[in-house]
Amino acid sequence: MTVIGAGIVGAACALACARRGLDVTVVDRGGLVAGTTGSGEGNILVSDKAPGPELDLALYSNEVWRRWEDELDERVPGGIELERKGGLIVSRTGALPASPLATACDAAEVRELEPHLSPEIVAGSFFPQDMQVQPARAAVAMLAVARSLGARLQLHTTVHRVRDVLADTGSDVVVNCTGAWAAQFGSAPAVQPRRGFILVTEPLPPLIRHKVYSADYLDNVASGDADLQSSTVVEGTPAGPVLIGATRERVGFARTPNPEALHRLASGAAALFPFLAGVRVMRTYHGFRPYAPDHLPVIGRDPDDERLWHAHGHEGAGIGLAPGTGELLGDLLTGVRPGVDPKPFDPGRAR
Ligand SMILES: Cc1cc2nc3c(=O)[nH]c(=O)nc-3n(C[C@H](O)[C@H](O)[C@H](O)COP(=O)(O)OP(=O)(O)OC[C@H]3O[C@@H](n4cnc5c(N)ncnc54)[C@H](O)[C@@H]3O)c2cc1C
Repeated sequence: MTVIGAGIVGAACALACARRGLDVTVVDRGGLVAGTTGSGEGNILVSDKAPGPELDLALYSNEVWRRWEDELDERVPGGIELERKGGLIVSRTGALPASPLATACDAAEVRELEPHLSPEIVAGSFFPQDMQVQPARAAVAMLAVARSLGARLQLHTTVHRVRDVLADTGSDVVVNCTGAWAAQFGSAPAVQPRRGFILVTEPLPPLIRHKVYSADYLDNVASGDADLQSSTVVEGTPAGPVLIGATRERVGFARTPNPEALHRLASGAAALFPFLAGVRVMRTYHGFRPYAPDHLPVIGRDPDDERLWHAHGHEGAGIGLAPGTGELLGDLLTGVRPGVDPKPFDPGRAR
C-alpha cells in the first residue's frame, strides 16, 4: 500500500498498517511534516467534543496515544513531549456544559488548578484525560517506528494521479492522507482549508499548568462560518514558550497576515492570564486545518474507487485523532473488527 502524505495522520496510518504486516510506502511532496502537522498546537482533547462519533474516536485515540507513548519516546531525542496534564475550560459567567468526563470547579477550585488566572473567572470544568504532545516530534517518531517495521519513505515526490502511484509503486491500495489538500483525490466529502494563527511567547517558567481555554472555543470549533472567529486557548510547553490560539477562518490557502486575528489572540490571552500582558511574543505562525463540511473525519474506502482509501478531514483535531485513525484504518484494511464504529466516517456518507 502507498500512503500519500507524511503528516501525523499519514504517519499514524503507516505505523498501524506496518504493524499489521502490510507492505507500506509513504510518499510526500515535501519533507517531513511539511503540511499542517508542522503548524499544529498539539492538544489531544476529549473536552471540546460533544457526545457522538468524534468523541468516540477521540476517546479511542486517547487510549492509543497512551499505548504508543513509550515506543514513540524512544525514537526521537528528548521524546515526543506527551504531557498528561488535563484540560480546563473556564467561564466568566459560570455557564459551562456538564460532562461525565469532567469535574465541575468553582472559583476557588479553578484558582487552585491555575493560580495565575484572571479573578474574573468564576467557574471551570476540568477534564483529566486531555493531554498535549509536540506534533512534529510525534509524527517523526511514528514514521521511525513504521520504518523499523519495514515501511519505506519517499519525500519530495508529488503524486498527481492515483493510478500513477499504483503503477509506480506496485501497490494495490493508496491511502489519501493529504490533509487540507485531500480534495485532489477521489470522491470523498470535499475537505477545505480552515486557517488558524498561533502566537508563541518568549520562554517562561511553568506558570500555566494545564491546557486552558475559554468556553466560547466550543462554539467556534462547532461552527462552520467562513468569517474570522477567535477564542482563547493557552498552554505552556516543556521548552518554556506559551502557545496562544485559536483563530478560524476559511480564506483558501491565503498566507497573508491577519493583524485582527493576532490582536484578538493577544488580547484574549491577556484577559485570561493577566501576566501575559507583559510577556513578549517571539513569533507567530499559521496553518490550514483540513475542514470537512459535516465536521467529521473522512476514514475508509472511496465510494467510487476500491483501490483508493481516505484518512483526512480532522480539522482542528488531527493531532489528537491520528493514532485512533491509524488503528481504525489498519483494521478496516485487514478486515478486523475495529475498536470504534467506522460508519460515521465513511467517505461515501454524503450520498
Ligand atoms: C493553528 C493550528 C492549531 C492546531 N492545533 C491542534 C491541536 O492542538 N490539536 C489537534 O489535534 N489538532 C490541531 N490542529 C489540527 C492538526 O494540525 C491537523 O488536523 C493535522 O495536522 C492534520 O494532519 P494531516 O496528516 O491530515 O495533514 P498534513 O500534516 O497537512 O499532511 C498532509 C501531507 O500531504 C502532503 N501532500 C499533499 N498533497 C500531496 C501530493 N499531491 N503528493 C504528495 N504529498 C502531498 C503534504 O505535503 C503534507 O505533508 C491545528 C491546526 C492548526 C492550523
